Amino acid sequence: MSFITQWMRDEILDIQSYSVQNSSEKLKLDAMESPFLLDDDTQKKLLQHLSNTEINRYPQSQKGLQNVIKNLMDIPQNLAVMLGNGSDELIQLLMLACSGQDKILGFNPSFVMYEMIAKWCGLDFQSIDLDDNFDINLIETLKNIAENNPKIIFIAYPNNPTGNNFSRASIEKIIQNATGLVVVDEAYYAYSDDSFISDIEKYDNLIVLRTISKIGFAGLRLGVMIGKKEVIAEFDKLRMPYNINTLTMVAAEFLLLNKQKIIENANIIKTQRSIVFEKLNSFEDITAFKSDANFILFQVKDAHALFDFLDENNVLIKNMHSKNNNVLRVTISTSDENQLFLNLVKQFYE
Ligand SMILES: *Cc1c(COP(=O)(O)O)cnc(C)c1O
Repeated sequence: MSFITQWMRDEILDIQSYSVQNSSEKLKLDAMESPFLLDDDTQKKLLQHLSNTEINRYPQSQKGLQNVIKNLMDIPQNLAVMLGNGSDELIQLLMLACSGQDKILGFNPSFVMYEMIAKWCGLDFQSIDLDDNFDINLIETLKNIAENNPKIIFIAYPNNPTGNNFSRASIEKIIQNATGLVVVDEAYYAYSDDSFISDIEKYDNLIVLRTISKIGFAGLRLGVMIGKKEVIAEFDKLRMPYNINTLTMVAAEFLLLNKQKIIENANIIKTQRSIVFEKLNSFEDITAFKSDANFILFQVKDAHALFDFLDENNVLIKNMHSKNNNVLRVTISTSDENQLFLNLVKQFYE
């Protein structure tokens, strides 16, 4: 046994580090990124903003950027926001507030970082399997709440990797019955017709997470936590003083002003989503599942074979195959890129 394997906690030794697929030269349809680049004029202005920043100084107050985000995401003025280095950092910060014996509840399948970060923090993570419609099993969830009093319940809405919004009534029941905090993670809010932001005023134990990663700015790493003022004030004590770097702050404060463009781009993706959904389902061997996000989960006869075929043809999607479920996840892109993907699928089945 090496020094480090003796030294490290067993749960950490058991973790597989998050792997980023090699995607050079490939059409990236694996990570729910937006396909839209900045136009030339915006690029030029962005460069000006960036070159005027004082990178010898620590980042300045986040207030200005917070206000831009409140406006972009229609967050009521009486609520507070806290920014994170990606919403991943905010998920970590939420669990940092927990202590030893606390239990964290999630669903299965859902966003993998909830479980991973719970392990980092030495917390007991439990998950409840979704039902056959990928919805919450409310009876099991309420039972778990009654027995275990989870300190935090993470609900991705829409859910990743299934793409659907869970039943709103079930989530409301969970918030009402939970003794701990309920975190509704709206990473895909731009592609969904519903949100829990307006419910925050009703419930002291509700927090909503959002991010700019899925609306065109994954490279900036900027997440948002939304809650009542007194709630955010407590969590803000756990935030690293300068967690958002100056280049991200300056770029985001400029780029996120263009709300119209961001909404326009999201609408293009929503239109494309229904086209890709129809097309995928027109193949006899494919079942695509309804999505409220910018990706589609679909089931095939042989997930590895289709994944490898696409990969060989330089199209990268996400292989979610486990326990013989044969599911794959594809990110919705521009019309041209979706067509390229669909043509390869067609070729595979011919
Ligand atoms: C992508 C994703 C995130 C991560 O967002 P970042 O801001 O890029 O860290 C959080 N939650 C869900 C459900 C996601 O799918």
